[in-house]
Formats: sequence, C-alpha cells, structure tokens
Amino acid sequence: TEHKDVIIIGAGPIGIACALECKKRNWNYTVIEKGALTNSLFNYPINMTFFSTSEKLEIDDIPFISNNPKPTRSEALEYYRRVTTSNQLHINLFEEVQTIKKTSKGFTVNSDKRNYQTKKVIIATGFYDIPNLLNIPGESLPKVRHYYKEAHPYTLQNIAIVGASNSSVDAALEIYRKGGNVTMIIRGEAIGERVKYWVRPDIINRIKEGSINAYFNAEITEIKPSEIIVKTSGNEITIPNDFVIALTGYRPNFQFLEKAGLEFSQDGKQIPVYNSDTMESNVEGIYLAGVICGGLETHKWFIENSRIHAKIISDHIENNLI
Ligand code: FAD
Repeated sequence: TEHKDVIIIGAGPIGIACALECKKRNWNYTVIEKGALTNSLFNYPINMTFFSTSEKLEIDDIPFISNNPKPTRSEALEYYRRVTTSNQLHINLFEEVQTIKKTSKGFTVNSDKRNYQTKKVIIATGFYDIPNLLNIPGESLPKVRHYYKEAHPYTLQNIAIVGASNSSVDAALEIYRKGGNVTMIIRGEAIGERVKYWVRPDIINRIKEGSINAYFNAEITEIKPSEIIVKTSGNEITIPNDFVIALTGYRPNFQFLEKAGLEFSQDGKQIPVYNSDTMESNVEGIYLAGVICGGLETHKWFIENSRIHAKIISDHIENNLI
C-alpha cells in the first residue's frame, strides 16, 4: 500500500490542474488515469477544433500558444502533454480506480494495479466514457458507433447521424465533404441551439439545398444490417444504411460515484451533491472537480469555467490536511 496526501482520479485538463496545485504545495500526491494522458481529448474526432479560444483552456496561467484563436485537438494534446512533462507531474497512466472506501484515517483507494492509503480524494473523472444509448433493436450491430473519429471510412457509404448538437453537426459536414451520403435523424424540430455560431449557417444551408438529408421530429426505431427504420411525423420509413453514428451525448459513471458514497440531486439531472465554496462532496474528504460536477447536465461545465476548481479545492485541503 502506498501512502499519499491526495489522490486525484482522472488526468483530464482539470485533474492536471489539480496536480499542479498539489505540486506547488509540496503535497505527496498522485494522479491515477485509466487511459492515456487527457484520454477524453485523445478520443475526440481527429480534426476537431475547440469552441474555446486557447487562453481559456490554459491551466495555472501557463500560456497556450496556438496558430489560430481556437486550437485544434492536436494543439491541445501538445499543450497538456507539455504542461505535464515540464512540471514532472506524478501521473500513473493506464491504471483504473475501482473503489474508494472511507477509513478512520482517510480513504483506501483501490485500482486494478495498486492499493493506496490517502488523506483526501479529488474525483475529476469527466463524462466521456459512457455514451447515452438509443435502446433500440439492432444497436449492438458492429455498424453502430457512439464515437466519431474521422470521415474516411464513410466515403461512398449511406450514413445516418443521430443527434443535432455540435458533435453530430461536425460529423455530418465532414462526412458529406468526404463523399458520404449523410442523413441526419433529429429528435427535435431544429439544429441544436448550442451549435457553434460559425458552423450553424453551414449545416442549415447544406440541409436546405439537399446536400445533407435531415428528418426532424424523427427517431430511429430499429437498425437492420442494411437499412434503418425511422419514425417521422407519424409515418415509418425505411432508409438504406451502412453505418449509424449515434452522437446522443455521454454520462458520468454514476455507479462508481455511488459506490464511494456520493449523493445526487433527485430532479432528473443527477447533479452530485457538493458545497460550491469548497467543492467538497457529501462525503467529507472527497472533492469533485471539472465537468463531472454537472451530472447529466454535461454542457454546464467546461474547461474555462471549471479549471478554477483546482485552486478552490487545494485552498480548502490546505486548511484541513491532517
Ligand atoms: P475529462 O477531460 O473527461 O477527464 C476525465 C479523465 O478521467 C479521463 O481521462 C478518464 O479516462 C479518466 N477516468 C474516468 N474514470 C476513471 C477511473 N475510474 N480511474 C481512472 N481514471 C478515470 N470543453 C471546453 O472547455 N472547450 C471545448 O471546446 C470543448 N469541446 C469539446 C468537444 C467534444 C467533442 C467533447 C465531447 C467535449 C468538449 N468539451 C470542451 C468538454 C470537455 O471534454 C471538457 O471541458 C474537458 O475534457 C473536461 O475536463 P475534465 O478534466 O473535467 O474531464
């Protein structure tokens, strides 16, 4: 068993920000990350551009220089990688935390590789690992994806994209421009309101001119090997289909949080209970940082407005570290 002052779970931008604060205070800390460094960013679409400008993605005031105002995925990977290596942060990669248990002296944290004894725990696990499923017949077919990486495999294919938010719109436009035949299946009556303001006219015009097909007030009711059944305005239609890309959002791992004793709001949003002055959860000594704080409201927190959590938490721990 290794002894620590602070264990940080998750090496996303906010977990890394927490590590920088721990380092400044000379605490004995470790970040445990189940995948690669900034695993969520690593899994974004390859050609993604952030909606945030680079200075808003900076942590601990370390300059983030990008070629254009809004950085790309690969520039962000470069930035967080460089912040991590030049500060020699203690991060164990490809190690998954399985349980957090309260003890008389703090917590035992068990991963798939080691056991730790720690005074405090910061959970910065994000929400990008568990997709919201469609829960319809055929969803487990191999042609159904819940993450979009790049357009190439979809050239000359019939693609259905489910959803109308940023991820869906970016994927629809990119696949259309790389020669795929794109049909968007949209539950509401319009393209999402939060779609990046400079992308919105592009998608609306491509739909209007018929380059991209779109069904509004529509949902897929069944996925078959070479077609999909879509319910729209009371009718059921059959559309030829090679791949379904369902970009219907993601959710935090609530089971993991519940096992640690965390409680959630009962209003359907499942927002974890925490004190916003300290970021301490209902379990004394367990803190929440980053986008995890929004529960099912995954658009509420992002890097710009949650990087501050690192400092709030460290200030509180500083006054309470036994
Ligand atoms: P994450 O970056 O998700 O990090 C959580 C980490 O915890 C992951 O690396 C995960 O592997 C790890 N983890 C989870 N469970 C465990 C476990 N049990 N044990 C060990 N490790 C674990 N935000 C912006 O601010 N600007 C943008 O432009 C922007 N664009 C986005 C585009 C897309 C396509 C998506 C999906 C999100 C975007 N976001 C953007 C939101 C965004 O992802 C976050 O703001 C950012 O990643 C949040 O950082 P985080 O550290 O809170 O969580």
